[in-house]
Amino acid sequence: MAKCISILGSTGSIGTQALQVVRVLGIKVIALTANKNIDLVEKQAREFNPKLVSVTNEQDAMELARRLSDTDTEVVWGIDGLVKAATMEEADTVLTAVVGISGLIPTLSAIKAGKNIALANKETLVTAGSLVMREAMINEVSIIPVDSEHSAIFQVLQGSNIKDVERLIITASGGPFRGMSKDQLSKVTLDDALRHPNWNMGKKITIDSATLMNKGLEVIEAKYLFDMPVDKIDVVVHPQSIVHSMVEYIDGSIIAQMGVPSMLTPIQYALTFPERRKNSFTRLDFTKMGTLNFEQPNLDLFSCLRLAFDALAAGGNATVVLNAANELAVELFLQSKISFIDIPILIENSLKNYNHIINPNIDDIINTDRICREFINAHFMK
Ligand code: NDP
Ligand code: MG
Repeated sequence: MAKCISILGSTGSIGTQALQVVRVLGIKVIALTANKNIDLVEKQAREFNPKLVSVTNEQDAMELARRLSDTDTEVVWGIDGLVKAATMEEADTVLTAVVGISGLIPTLSAIKAGKNIALANKETLVTAGSLVMREAMINEVSIIPVDSEHSAIFQVLQGSNIKDVERLIITASGGPFRGMSKDQLSKVTLDDALRHPNWNMGKKITIDSATLMNKGLEVIEAKYLFDMPVDKIDVVVHPQSIVHSMVEYIDGSIIAQMGVPSMLTPIQYALTFPERRKNSFTRLDFTKMGTLNFEQPNLDLFSCLRLAFDALAAGGNATVVLNAANELAVELFLQSKISFIDIPILIENSLKNYNHIINPNIDDIINTDRICREFINAHFMK
């Protein structure tokens, strides 16, 4: 179980829920980070009394330092600040809950500093899965998934032999646009896309859930986390989000992990692993649950999921391009500069126009990310 933690992205959806869990478990918080929300991170710093807080900009850091001048908390900023928070000597565990590829360098730094990782940030494994898992092995640290699907699979796999696994079955809610026609999908608005039926999450992952890119990112993560070939990973749409994912074994047995749609349980499990702790979270009541449905995802209409499978099959830096194009496309959609159905078009075009690198190192990954963003800005945002 974690005893002393750094939380990267403490002001976000995962970060704030993690602090709820940490508060009850009594885990010491040594560092917190935010992007721009200095009001909330100030409040968190006053409650949890961390040694360090980091924000993105120097001006915000100066203002926060002024506000926290009556405390012992040091305020730092930028990528150096994030890395400092990720590598605090006292921390045994780092929860990475920032959004986007900005999570990659701090996560890698934490691994190299020997910290166990409670991994929420998807983009880390999507962009650098082989590299990150190799570093984790070399540095003998655990990567414990926070995402509900991977937590489900991780929990199911405890005590079983990975060689006995026939396939992983990742469930997807299908998002707010499940069952829509192409014509309906072309007319959806930003507000529609931000209204997820089951989960309350940050904006970027909420849009990813609407396009089904979120499921694509999860398939890529699952490949690296569980060292599973892509043909042994299936996606099934399950609108109630009760079955968080399943593992099928070679004898045909399928074991599922279930619960209400809440991130509190997977966050707690990532922090107490290998132990379990009693809690007062909402429990699943089978007598009130009603029916559970399962259906095939529609890869023609929700082509982001197909593009993710294609990028994973292409390997190398293709998933870096997929991720960069998706991050930028989602940002443009959130700014109402492109429509919902433009998102997969930008990603597909980016995947047709990049220099493939079979075994990218960290510099190749950062460069691929930058070049892809420049390509989209130059060709589509005139
Ligand atoms: P949010 O947008 O709610 O929070 C993101 C956090 O990261 C905030 O603390 C934000 O600070 C900070 N942040 C944003 N941009 C940057 C940046 N450029 N540099 C440093 N910090 C930054 O996201 P979520 O909590 O929803 O998601 C976080 C990660 O976890 C994502 O990768 C997501 O895919 C993954 N995830 C989320 C789940 C969920 O239920 N929310 C479930 C499974 C995975 P500020 O508040 O100041 O902007
Ligand atoms: Mg998930």
